[in-house]
Parts: sequence; C-alpha cells; structure tokens
Amino acid sequence: MAVSLDIAALRARRPEGIDLAATQGDGLGCHAGKDAMRAAAEAAGLSETLEQYKRDYPAGPHDQPQSMCPAFGSLRVGLRMRRTATILSGSACCVYGLTFTSHFYGARRSVGYVPFNSETLVTGKLFEDIREAVHASAEPEECDAVVVINLCVPTASGVPLRLLPKQIDGVRVIGIDVPGFGVPTHAEAKDVLAGAMLKFARTEAEQGPVQAPRGGRSERPSVALLGEMFPADPVVIGGLLEPLGLSAGPVVPTREWRELYGALDAAAVAAIHPFYTASVREFEAAGRPVVGSAPVGHDGTAEWLEAIGNVCDVPREKIAAAQNRWLPVIRGALSAAPIRGRITLSGYEGSELLVARLLVESGAEVPYVGTACPRTPWSEPDRAWLEARGVRIRYRASLEDDLAAFEEFRPDLAIGTTPVVQKAKEAGTPALYFTNLISARPLMGAAGAGSLAKVVNAALANRPRFDAMRAFFEGVGTGHAAGIWQDVPRIKAAPKVQAPEKPVGEMA
Ligand code: SF4
Repeated sequence: MAVSLDIAALRARRPEGIDLAATQGDGLGCHAGKDAMRAAAEAAGLSETLEQYKRDYPAGPHDQPQSMCPAFGSLRVGLRMRRTATILSGSACCVYGLTFTSHFYGARRSVGYVPFNSETLVTGKLFEDIREAVHASAEPEECDAVVVINLCVPTASGVPLRLLPKQIDGVRVIGIDVPGFGVPTHAEAKDVLAGAMLKFARTEAEQGPVQAPRGGRSERPSVALLGEMFPADPVVIGGLLEPLGLSAGPVVPTREWRELYGALDAAAVAAIHPFYTASVREFEAAGRPVVGSAPVGHDGTAEWLEAIGNVCDVPREKIAAAQNRWLPVIRGALSAAPIRGRITLSGYEGSELLVARLLVESGAEVPYVGTACPRTPWSEPDRAWLEARGVRIRYRASLEDDLAAFEEFRPDLAIGTTPVVQKAKEAGTPALYFTNLISARPLMGAAGAGSLAKVVNAALANRPRFDAMRAFFEGVGTGHAAGIWQDVPRIKAAPKVQAPEKPVGEMA
C-alpha cells in the first residue's frame, strides 16, 4: 500500500512540534529531566495520549516506583507473540538495556531498532526511517503484526507514529508511545500494547469475519483471562469453571493475533492482574463484563466462582455445586501445607495481593504488602479481604516503603524485589525474589496452595544457615573492611633504602 506523507509539513511543524533542546544532553531520561520531557511531548501534540495514561495509570503516593524501564513491558508482550515483529525507536543506551534484558529473559527473537541522531530527529527523517523499517518488516508470510515502540526521546520529540500506515499487505502496524515519563511501570506498559492490539482486533471484528481460534471455538462459553500467569494456572481455572458450564478462554496478553478475537468473543473477562485498564476499556466496549480478583485460596475461589457465575447468568444451584466441589479440596490442600511465620511481601507483577491472600490462608502472618501497581477496582475484593485481616497495603510502593516495612516488622521471611531481598539477606533474614520464585508458580485453586507453601517453607527453614553464615563472615565486607577509605589517605614518607653490603648479583 502506498503511503503518502507530507514531510515538508512535518518539518514545518518542527518549531512548535519537536523540542530538540528538551531531549539533548546527558541526564535527560529515566533518571532526570522528566518534567522537561513531558512538557516537550505535550508541546509536540501528545497531550491527549499523556492525559489518557494519567487516567489509566494513576500516580501516588509515588508517581513512579523504582522499576526497570517501563517500555520493557510492551517489548516483552510483542516478543512473546508469534508472527509479530517488534521495532524500538529510542536512544541507543535505552535500546541496549531493553534488548539485553529481553534476551536475558529468553526472548530468542530479534528486536528491530531504528537509530537516530539530532538531525534525523529534528528534520523528521527519523519518522521516514521508521516507516521504511516497518515496510521492510511487514512480510505477510512472516508477520501478522509489526509493533513500533517510541521510547522517551522520540515520544518527547513528537515522532508521529500515528501517521504510520495501519496495514501493509494485510500486516497490522501498531505504533505506541511508551515513555518512562508517562507510563509508571513495566506492568502497565504491557497493558499499553495489549490494549492497542485489542482495540485494533475489535475494530476488525466489527467490520467483518475474522480468524477462528487455532483449536476452534469452545463449545462452552469462555472466560478470557487478563494477566500473564504461570502456564498451569489457565488449566486449573478451566477445571474450576467446568461445573459452571464455562471454559477458560485466551490469556491476554495473547501469544498470537487470532487469540485476540477469541478473547473479545468471551462471555466474561477475569481481570486476574488488576492493572490492565486500557484492555478492560476494550472489553467493555465489546460488551464483556469484567470480574476482579482471582480464584486463590478458599475464600478467593468461593467469591470468584460466585462473581463469574453471576455475570455469566449461571443458575444459583450450579454456582453452589461448583463451590461444593472445589472448596473442600482447596481447604484440604491449604491445611496439608501450612505456613508458619511472619512474612512481608512486595513486588511489581500485579499479583502481590493474591499471593498475600494465599499466604494468610495458609497460616502466615502478613503485616505488609507493597505493590508497584495502582489501586484499581479489580483488586478491591482482595484489598477488603486483606485489610479486614490487619494487612497494611501500600499501592505504588517505593523501595523505601518496602525497606521501612522490613525494618518495622522484622519478618521471618521477606518476599520482594531484588534490593529488598539483598537488604534482608544482609540482615540475616531469609528472602525470596518475588518475580522469579513466587510469581512463576501456580497460584490458582488447590494447585496454588501446595506449591507456594513448598518454596516458602523451604526458605523459612533456611534461617539457621543465615545465622551460621552471618556468624562466620561477621565484619567481612562492612565498615573498615568494605574496601572504602573512611579517611583521606595520608602520604607517608618513603622508607629509606639501605644500600646492600655487597653489589646485587655478586657471588659470595
Ligand atoms: S526509554 Fe526507558 S531507559 Fe530510556 S530514558 Fe526512557 S525510561 Fe529510561
């Protein structure tokens, strides 16, 4: 498809559109200059996008918890989809970090990159380069979609991805701005791309027939699942839904384009992770009811089955039958794998409140849960349940919040982000990294109860080893032994060298 673009007009809008000064120099990026970048982006005509992000991803008490580059969330969603090419447009250092991290997490897929310099940025040539890259990538035999992600500097400069063609030879082109000064966390950046894809797919479905799911449509109405989860969880959820006459639908973010239609075709949507605001907007526009929380533990499963049954018009007796079938099994699994101890919990995956519920039902004392995600309607049932049991919840928690909670509650186990785990271990407290060790396990139904207890109890039992290690290494690497000069080094007079009695090398 031919693309007509008025480059002269693009250049002409530079004075009021592209604010090169706001994007130059060191120190502008995720570590500084956020206000200048935001102002530049607004001046470049992105106010609407930034306002939407503000509404979708509310800030406060901290506008941005410490986290990796938010764009990683969008990049990861694109890289995990079949037949999808992903192109980044941004500073080389950002792209280096993002591609490094994506390959560290096993992307095994090339990431496209359109580099720029001051000149290509300010003249609009960068946009032409991006357009060229999109055309080169949009091979219908290889791709269903090409995703282009504007990072901080191109977003602040107003590089207009909206002017890219919507399709090239049937390959969809999705351009999104994912600046660190507009999207608070990488979790929410997943939603930016998932929401954009759902919107595209919804428009396609409204215009005519679309591809059926790979395995055909389920005979039973399905429930789409919102949020990346452990691969066994959708299977467990499918089992829980079966007595209701329902099935587990696609997981969004999806693994391929056609699953988006299947998700939009679901009878209801389970917002397992509570931060997918843009995606929920698309589901609601498609007329799909959205249910929060998840089937975790006894109470969570009971409430969730009821809520899903109600929105899907399942008769009362069927809901009760499903509860009677599953709840005793879950209660049995929980009591067979008790957890004893005080645990603080923090993370940025969005499942923190769900994990806390499971820990509390397993018998643990959980005084604090910190999450980088905002408070949303879809985690309200979990908030209410946890707060009724004395758990303090901190939304948009900063590292300082999590560390203060660790100091205050002196837990037997700290589950948290890398720096929290490091701090806890330094203090001789067992600790588990939330992302790799907790959120990468089944959480739903009876399977979740047993699996979580295994890893948590193993960690709790490590306390004596930490005590032994601390005793053994006491003083090493701290204080004067940290390898850091505490005082200004003083120059000492050189020792006098005495002349040897005999010349060196002379035989005695
Ligand atoms: S794109 Fe990411 S790494 Fe680069 S400046 Fe923005 S937030 Fe930081």
